[in-house]
Amino acid sequence: MNRADSSALRAAMLAAADDIIAAEPELTRIDMVIGDGDHGIGMKTGFTALRRMLLENEYPTPYALFHACGLCLVKSMGGSSGVLFGTLLIGGLEAIEGLDSLGGREMCAFLAGGIDAVVRRGRAKPGYKTMVDALLPAKARMEAALTQTDDVGRVLAAAEAGALEGVEATKDMLPRLGRSRGFRETALGWPDPGAVSVSVLLGGLRRGLDGE
Ligand code: ADP
Ligand code: MG
Repeated sequence: MNRADSSALRAAMLAAADDIIAAEPELTRIDMVIGDGDHGIGMKTGFTALRRMLLENEYPTPYALFHACGLCLVKSMGGSSGVLFGTLLIGGLEAIEGLDSLGGREMCAFLAGGIDAVVRRGRAKPGYKTMVDALLPAKARMEAALTQTDDVGRVLAAAEAGALEGVEATKDMLPRLGRSRGFRETALGWPDPGAVSVSVLLGGLRRGLDGE
């Protein structure tokens, strides 16, 4: 799909919510080993609320859709990841203000703005084994893809590929921030749960836009 309007993006967010909800057991298992075990349940709670909200509402613009989604996650999830996933969807809204649909360039600007906001807010440096380690390669791959295409689906596919690369890289990282600091060596070989969630979210968006 070349461009996506708010109804296509709503379908994409619904697909992403389904994928996050389905990933709960995997996210829980990983966070039990390297964190405090609540990441899967937090994500499932937030994206179940998001799913319900989307099924009950229509949104005039992509801005209105993502704004409502971000607020819903912050309100329903709690924990650091609620704020961070909310920030991901809200931090780049300025880039899509007034648009009826998003092409690849606008999607990239929107997500990149959200990624920068997560980095500012969470203050995790690259290599700290957090979702930032999936978000930054996603941003880099999207920006590289824009030199070839303005197709929103292809730009999301690039973001997903970057995030998956980042997830793999987190397996070799020692955690530096937050609760998983107490599990430093145990965490080796395991990916960061927040990074996995980022890859599931971007993959779900891509899948939802493809109509898969
Ligand atoms: P909590 O840390 O409150 O228990 P979750 O378990 O839901 O929250 O989420 C943990 C995930 O959140 C981690 O795997 C990591 O990716 C991400 N995370 C936590 N703190 C930060 C931070 N300051 N910056 C970036 N990501 C963070
Ligand atoms: Mg946790």
